[in-house]
Amino acid sequence: MLDIKKIRGDFPILNREVNGKPLVYLDNAATSQTPKQVIDAIVDYYENYNANIHRGVHALSQEATDKYEQARIKIQKHFNAAKSHEIIFTSGTTHGINLVASGFTSLLKAGDEIVVSAMEHHSNIVPWQMLCERTGAVLKVIPMNDEGELVMQQYDQLLSDRTQLVFCNHVSNALGTVNPIAEIIEKAHKLGAAVLVDGAQAAPHIKADVQALDVDFYTVSAHKMCGPTGVGMLYGKEEWLNKLPPYQGGGEMIAEVTFEKTTYADLPHKFEAGTPNICGGIAFGAALAYMNAISFDQIAEYEHDLLEYATQELLKVEGLRIYGTAKKKTSVISFNIEGVHPYDIGTILDKLGIAVRTGHHCAQPIMDFYGIPGTVRASFSFYNTKDEVDVLVEGVKRARNMLL
Ligand SMILES: *Cc1c(COP(=O)(O)O)cnc(C)c1O
Repeated sequence: MLDIKKIRGDFPILNREVNGKPLVYLDNAATSQTPKQVIDAIVDYYENYNANIHRGVHALSQEATDKYEQARIKIQKHFNAAKSHEIIFTSGTTHGINLVASGFTSLLKAGDEIVVSAMEHHSNIVPWQMLCERTGAVLKVIPMNDEGELVMQQYDQLLSDRTQLVFCNHVSNALGTVNPIAEIIEKAHKLGAAVLVDGAQAAPHIKADVQALDVDFYTVSAHKMCGPTGVGMLYGKEEWLNKLPPYQGGGEMIAEVTFEKTTYADLPHKFEAGTPNICGGIAFGAALAYMNAISFDQIAEYEHDLLEYATQELLKVEGLRIYGTAKKKTSVISFNIEGVHPYDIGTILDKLGIAVRTGHHCAQPIMDFYGIPGTVRASFSFYNTKDEVDVLVEGVKRARNMLL
């Protein structure tokens, strides 16, 4: 079992108060909190070996380069990529998706089809719409049902020999649904289509094995898994990364530059133009080490318990409806109370020191599907407790009584 008291001791922010009440942080799907071990890695970088990487002959540059490349290998091992140069450092999931969408511009032609799921984050919709505008490709949508699960029979019907690309999140940030990505990938591959999986919301809870999944692209953000903001990774199969053109031009991504012609650097540098977020990359590695030391199996088991408990207790509140009741879920609960605007609930909870998110969660098509303006979303991490669930439920009851 997890030693929650000890784990909570690793997160200094969990000791603070908000509006005179102990902080109950339940906005983990937006960003997670940062343990001391990761904060220490950041401080260590700036206090002891801050330098630009890859180019310098001096000791600090060498040290920073080594630590940065070690972080890449930690990420490679964590996601079980075959090669470390298949791991591209990015600024986050959004950057990774845009890199791939931009790269496909020269690989698609008018009339080609790309398939997306109905429950995507805007960052896994808009770059593909822009790609369609550039190329004349057509976007098709896998629908979802009331439970917030993808209708897989419809997926079968959408696939054709015109399908070039499929992209889907591993876990929905608005509903918590764990999507059947292995099946999605296998079916797409039968028709020769590539698959990008947005793993931003899965990565804090599920250790994805990119080789076992046989996925072509997998992208995550460090800040949702105990790391800092502004850094993430894109995994791409070597053959695909070789096929895609560079995303940005600049320093670091070249082999040779003359005014007549520039040749590009090998992977991964071809996709890493400019000075990267060096400290962020190193801290991302530290975050993975921290979570792996606890173990993802333990985290999943503990969070599943929290999810079950919170679901059961919240459903006792009169008029409360949960959106997203899929059989396989991570610890995200989106809900509304009949007759009350989600924003008003969020405001009252904030007064009680409880941090939740309200609104469309960057997934407007899901809100349109249910015909609602938004939801209240409580998202739990392995450092949350049943006591905090109780505080949330009491707070929701109080908000309901005040607003109705
Ligand atoms: C958070 C999130 C994103 C966007 O991540 P950024 O870190 O903002 O780039 C994309 N997809 C899902 C499912 C997310 O949860």
